[in-house]
Amino acid sequence: MNVRKNDTVMVVSGNSLGKQGKVLKLFPGKSRLIIEGVNIVKRHSRPSQKNPQGGIVQKEAPIHLSNVMVVCPKCGKPTRIGYAPVKDATSGKDKKMRVCKHCNEMF
Ligand SMILES: [Zn+2]
Repeated sequence: MNVRKNDTVMVVSGNSLGKQGKVLKLFPGKSRLIIEGVNIVKRHSRPSQKNPQGGIVQKEAPIHLSNVMVVCPKCGKPTRIGYAPVKDATSGKDKKMRVCKHCNEMF
């Protein structure tokens, strides 16, 4: 998965095309994710303890990973992601950093 929780992503396909939001939740097994304020669906729910009134609840629905691009926090553009090995200062081990294909900044 290129996308991580709290990343900002842009939707590049489907109904929510062009919308941006923060990643709230990832479903790695399903290659899906939930983005704050994107792909809102209305659920009609019966009254429950959590929601004693019942009625219509608006909620983000998961969308497929292939429909989003990560927005680079450095240059603000939606981008493909590369990887670069970086030596971790504390452990001395190589770790992979993500690299923006636009500005080549690591994040
Ligand atoms: Zn960038």
